[in-house]
Amino acid sequence: MRIARFSIDGNVAFGAIEGDKQDELVLNIIKGIPFADFELSGTKVPVGKVRLLPPVLPNKVVAFGRNYAEHARELGNEVPDAPFAFFKPSTSVIGPGDEIQYPSFSEEVHHEAELAVVIGRMCREVPRERVKDVIFGYTCANDVTARDVQKREKQWARAKGFDSSCPLGPWVETDLDASDLTIQLTVNGQQRQLGRTSEMIHSIEDLVVNISEAMTLLPGDVILTGTPAGVGPLNVGDEVAVTIEGIGTLTNKVVKRG
Ligand code: ZN
Repeated sequence: MRIARFSIDGNVAFGAIEGDKQDELVLNIIKGIPFADFELSGTKVPVGKVRLLPPVLPNKVVAFGRNYAEHARELGNEVPDAPFAFFKPSTSVIGPGDEIQYPSFSEEVHHEAELAVVIGRMCREVPRERVKDVIFGYTCANDVTARDVQKREKQWARAKGFDSSCPLGPWVETDLDASDLTIQLTVNGQQRQLGRTSEMIHSIEDLVVNISEAMTLLPGDVILTGTPAGVGPLNVGDEVAVTIEGIGTLTNKVVKRG
């Protein structure tokens, strides 16, 4: 099932996406919140008539660095032996179609296409064999990064945590084997990144085990799983799109921060 979050007439709701043709999709409005048991209301609205929002409002976004060997090498970094994590704040999250605001303190902002794991239930110290039980689904993410600031500053809070640096969407796909999916990114229609999730150094299971060893994960929390090779600059006016097989396409435009 594909679950989107959207606003209509000033209200926020979740809905299940129905239909096959891209321009004829409808949202079957969900009663309650999708993490608990929920029912479909049967009330349907065309996707084209609503504004899609970030599919979840995470309490935290945990992102893993250098999880694809070729990407680690393209930036001259060693491939890490163990997964390593950093945070992106909740205020960095934007939805499909929202604007990435180019920050004033950077002159080199990069795109990073990533598979995002959405957590479905409160959990800690998750054993490997239970990881699938705590995952709600998957969505597309762009780990937008001020690369010059990342190189200059030891902690990445500013480089990877500025407002609008975490586009998520367009919806959460809940029925998906995410172990071997094509992940690609285009800028203004030109392909920049292409990889497969099977190329991750540390698997989705490894990452959930690793972070849940340290902290409680809450429903709606998001884990970014690293980016394949091909990262590069974004400029004001660019349209950047992340497409993951079996999920969909997340598109955002880059604007100057007003
Ligand atoms: Zn990243």
